[in-house]
Amino acid sequence: KTFEELDLIAPLQRALAEEKYTTPTPIQAQTIPPAVEGRDVLGCAQTGTGKTAAFALPILNQLGERHRKARPNCPIVLVLAPTRELAIQIGESFETYGRHLRLRHVLVYGGVSQGNQVRSLNRGAHVLVATPGRLVDLMSQGHIELSQLEVFVLDEADRMLDMGFLPDLKRIINKLPDERQSLFFSATLPPKIRELSQSLLSNPVTVNV
Ligand code: AMP
Repeated sequence: KTFEELDLIAPLQRALAEEKYTTPTPIQAQTIPPAVEGRDVLGCAQTGTGKTAAFALPILNQLGERHRKARPNCPIVLVLAPTRELAIQIGESFETYGRHLRLRHVLVYGGVSQGNQVRSLNRGAHVLVATPGRLVDLMSQGHIELSQLEVFVLDEADRMLDMGFLPDLKRIINKLPDERQSLFFSATLPPKIRELSQSLLSNPVTVNV
């Protein structure tokens, strides 16, 4: 299958052509069609397999089909990543694939002052890419409201738990609306991660690459 056969909206096809992407990777080929339809996905995949585009493209496809205003402090999509480096990479992917769409994404991560992140959130974001600790801090200060969330992505879940983020993760998960799409990625699926995925996903499509 080619990207053209995946029926993504034209602005995405254009960006992919500009990036010289022709063929979806296995995780993309298996994740994009059900995710575009709104299904939950449990993806078992390592970095380097193209998993970022596997969740970014269906999300951008949904956001791009019908333009909505970016509301201050109230994202439509939340992507959680364990580290600042990964959050930045994910933000760059949304930037690249979404370059022909009028969408705003905001990045929040720890280790830097909050001021710029708070101002960006106030200007509005469709997509929020965050690390768990900083997200919890900003939520508890009232800078982020997850009640309007439609899509939740958890990337590198196993690494997140290894880094001790489970308590933060639970605080975040508590604030997610029940009705949402969830996309869950992990390189490994030990019992703790499987349990976490079951608490988050509803009737997921499982993808293993
Ligand atoms: P990831 O696993 O998401 O970190 O992606 C690994 C790398 O593969 C990134 O540099 C992407 O730009 C690139 N990539 C992802 N999907 C494709 C594709 N279908 N064709 C060519 N390159 C890709």
